[in-house]
Amino acid sequence: MRKIAATYIFPVNQPPIKNGTLICESDGTIVDIIDNNGELKEESGLEFYSGILVPGFVNTHCHLELSHLKGKIEEKTGIGGFIGKINTLRNQDFGSIEKAIEIADRKMWAAGTAAVGDISNSNITIVTKQKSKIYYHTFVESFGFHPSRAETAFEYAKNVLSEFRENKLPASIIPHSPYSVSKPLFEKIKENAFAEKSLLSIHNQESKGETQFYKNGDGPIANHLKNNLGIDISHWKPTGKSSIISIMKYLPPQNRLILVHNTFTEKSDLNELKHNRSLENIWFALCPNSNLYIENKLPPISLFKEEDLNICLGTDSLASNHQLSILEEMITIQQNFTELKLEELLIWATLNGAKALGIESTFGTFQAGKNPGVNLISGFDFRNMKLTISSKVKRLV
Ligand SMILES: [Zn+2]
Repeated sequence: MRKIAATYIFPVNQPPIKNGTLICESDGTIVDIIDNNGELKEESGLEFYSGILVPGFVNTHCHLELSHLKGKIEEKTGIGGFIGKINTLRNQDFGSIEKAIEIADRKMWAAGTAAVGDISNSNITIVTKQKSKIYYHTFVESFGFHPSRAETAFEYAKNVLSEFRENKLPASIIPHSPYSVSKPLFEKIKENAFAEKSLLSIHNQESKGETQFYKNGDGPIANHLKNNLGIDISHWKPTGKSSIISIMKYLPPQNRLILVHNTFTEKSDLNELKHNRSLENIWFALCPNSNLYIENKLPPISLFKEEDLNICLGTDSLASNHQLSILEEMITIQQNFTELKLEELLIWATLNGAKALGIESTFGTFQAGKNPGVNLISGFDFRNMKLTISSKVKRLV
């Protein structure tokens, strides 16, 4: 049994407790959270830390597979430049890719990450995920823009899915994005998701180019498909509507859904979405550091707050981020949206992420019986109760 006290405890499901004590089993299971009415008495075996205690973070969008691309892609080139580069760089020797994946997993754990929703196009992360102390849900991502590729692409995804499941790792098949999946492939993914009641996720409105492709059929995405991938896109008919509105018919309203990025999502998109399905089981995953890396733009967080959306956080991959750290994502948001309260940011970083992945019975809050991990954040501004650019995280449990 451990007794851990700190200047403040943020249980997430209740207001912060000054000088509180957290009691947990040696395996990390929370036994009790004690409110000492602000006054901590000395006690044998009590650990005290200056800083705040928060539950382990949940990263709802990552690509471990791209960890070997850290620092390889130039910043702020826009989506056209980025996806073009990924395509030429991603295939390297198996050993160095696996090594980079293993290091990224260990660093994520040390940075207080308890659970991850990880995008995979292959089975290469299985070995690391089996050994990891982190909980992973793998999103087996399928893509193929030409309709003739649908059958092959879906069969490939099904094989990868079986490999994860055979290794007792939770996984589900998802579409990559509105601009990389053909109608027949979307149909297959939809049918499968509906039958399995599985967890869905899709990259959404990450760039202006995506909207341009759907509204007019041209721009950087059309150029990438034609020039980098050499795909015949003569079958493509722009819908005249935004991407999410055009493809939402392929995302069954019964399924839990994580929309990733939402950098260029507008109020009209949210209105249309609301008309067609409940927003209750949609989670809007924000990856601000990746958005700044690629497009140098942040999602409309004030609008999302006004609309009372379920917000959660992700890091995206090391191809478009300097680290895989949810704390760094929170700091970026705090710096750019100074009115945000830490309690709200923490809900996004922990409980909402856990709900998005369907693991809230174990993760996301300090509550007796859960095993969410315990993080200490130091370098905290106690006067304003805010994170600062020098805030650091250390995993205690
Ligand atoms: Zn991504």
